[in-house]
Formats: sequence, structure tokens, C-alpha cells
Amino acid sequence: MTTQEILVVKIGGAEGIDHAACAADLAAIADRRPLVVVHGVSAAVNALCAERGVPVRMLTSPTGHSSRYTNPQTRDLYVEAAESVNRALTGHLTALGIAAEGLTGANIPLLGERKSAIRALVDGRVRIIRDDYSGSITGVDVVRVLRALTRGSVAVVPPLAASADGLLNVDGDRAGAAVAAALGASDYVILSGVRGLYRRFPDESSFVPRVNRDELDSALDWAQGRMKRKVIGASEALSNGVQRVIIADGRVHMPVRAALGGHGTEFLR
Ligand code: ADP
Repeated sequence: MTTQEILVVKIGGAEGIDHAACAADLAAIADRRPLVVVHGVSAAVNALCAERGVPVRMLTSPTGHSSRYTNPQTRDLYVEAAESVNRALTGHLTALGIAAEGLTGANIPLLGERKSAIRALVDGRVRIIRDDYSGSITGVDVVRVLRALTRGSVAVVPPLAASADGLLNVDGDRAGAAVAAALGASDYVILSGVRGLYRRFPDESSFVPRVNRDELDSALDWAQGRMKRKVIGASEALSNGVQRVIIADGRVHMPVRAALGGHGTEFLR
């Protein structure tokens, strides 16, 4: 196995992306090249919070970024949901005859640092939040990922980072970017609930098939809401050696092969 052949795929965790349907596509790819799958968990956490009667709250940073308020109680549910999504996805691949290893528990490859004081708008008022267990990614233990890949398994990575403060909620798009860069992967595919990047979302005629390196700043301006982190992830991956990032639709038939075949928004180094 050469590390350049590695493909990293991020599968969104929102409603609308069917992990079971993606698994058949991933299984076909895993037959041909080393594959790392990073998954989101948002819908699963929301469902678990509803089931346990824990309110879902969002923090909005002064710059307008929105993120899940992950206090200690929510963190525990976040970890539980991430492990369960990870098990399900690994199970789908195994059921298709593909060796897959969920990198959870002691095998979590992402390392992070908790943001101990966040200035944020909570329910419309600016506050300093000190009990949030979200974090920034500070490193990747590549050996944990490579061990799975050299055994011929698909590595399935949850959006969790190990830190001095325990497990942290980290952004999946940026987690995928960090993993792709640390592994020296050639391609990073981000599957989402849209076709890709638009200049003026959702105006179909403004779809962007390709973003060159000198257009990254404009792309960051075009992207709003949840698309912003995907473009940041794309930019981080490219700056750190990944050759190509594709943001594409996760809702279509064979989404990863469609993305690699030219559907979606391609970011080139
Ligand atoms: P995730 O995969 O993380 O669950 P989504 O697929 O929902 O996230 O993220 C993409 C979302 O970003 C779209 O649903 C859309 O509402 C929003 N968005 C904002 N600006 C843009 C843009 N310029 N191009 C595409 N999507 C955009």
C-alpha cells in the first residue's frame, strides 16, 4: 500500500444521508484502494437527546459560526451516539464482506484541545461558556489509522478527539481534512446534503464545478452555514498536502464514485 493511494471520505451525519446506501459504494472502492471513512453524528445525537429528554442547544460565535453546545451531559450523549453510528457503519461494511475497523475507545486517532472559554450567543445573549466539550484538532495518531489500513481494513473514524479533558466533540469535515493530510492521502471527498458549492446558494445556475487555489478566499465568502466548515476543511487539506478535495452530494446513487467521476465541486491544489 502506498499512502498516496489513500482515499478519505467524510459522510455527513445529517438527516438525508443514508449510511447503509453509501456503504455499498464504499465497499466497491475499498476493494481497489485503501479507504478511511470519517462520519458525522448530528442526527443521531439529536435523536438520542430527544429520547433522553436533553435539550439540543446551539452556540453561535460572534463571527456567526454555529455549533452544538456540548456541556458534560451532552458530551456523554455525543460520545454514545458517535460510537453507535460508528458501529452501524462498520457493521454495514462488514455485512458486505469488507473488513472494517471502527477506531473508537482506545483507538481514537484524533487528538484535540478543549476550548475552555468560548464567547457565544446563547439563545440570543452573549455569554462566556466554560463547560463546553468541543475542541480543536491538534494532531492525528496516524499509526492507529495505518494499522487498520495495512491489515486491509477500512478505517472508520468518529468525530471525537482524545484530550486532557476527556473526549471532545470535533467537527467532522475538519477531522476528515486532518486525517487526509496526516496520512498523505491524495483525495478527500466530503459528502453532504447538497450537490456541492454554489456562488449564490440555492441558485442552481450558480453551481461551482471547480475551485482553483487562487479562488479559495472567494469560495469561503460564497459558503454560508454548514458549507463554511466544508470549505475550511477543503482549504486545510490542500494546504497540508492533499492533492484534491471534492465536496459532493451524498444523497445520490453511488455517491463516492459519482464524486470521483466529476460530479460535485472539485478543489485542486
Ligand atoms: P452536513 O453534511 O455537515 O450535515 P449539510 O450537507 O447540511 O451538512 O451542509 C451543506 C449546507 O450548507 C447546505 O444544506 C446549505 O443549506 C448550506 N449552504 C450555505 N451556503 C452554501 C453554498 N454557497 N453552497 C452550498 N451549500 C450552502
